[in-house]
Amino acid sequence: MITTFLPPDTPLLPCAGQWDLFFSPDGEGEVEAAARAAAARRVCAGCTLAPDCFAWAMKHDEAGTWAGTTEHDRRLIRRRQADRARYAARREAAA
Ligand code: SF4
Repeated sequence: MITTFLPPDTPLLPCAGQWDLFFSPDGEGEVEAAARAAAARRVCAGCTLAPDCFAWAMKHDEAGTWAGTTEHDRRLIRRRQADRARYAARREAAA
C-alpha cells in the first residue's frame, strides 16, 4: 500500500486511510475514475513525500494513484522515458 516505502516512524500521510480515493473499486466507470483521481491529486499536491512516493510507484509498478499519478499516467511516463532512451541510443549510434 501507499506506506510501504516509508519507515515506520513516518508521520501520518495526507492519504492515510483514504484507500477508496486512491484505489479504484471494481466496476468503476471512466467519469467516476477521473473524479476520484482528481480528488486524490489534490491530496497529493500538499504532500512533501511525493518524489519518493512517485519513485516507488514507478519502480514497483503499483496500482492506484501515487504522488498524483494514476496507473495510466505512469504508463505514459514509462513509454515516454523508453522513447527518449531509444532516441538517445540511436543518436549515439549515429554519431
Ligand atoms: S504523494 Fe500522495 S499517495 Fe504519495 S504519500 Fe503523499 S499523499 Fe500519499
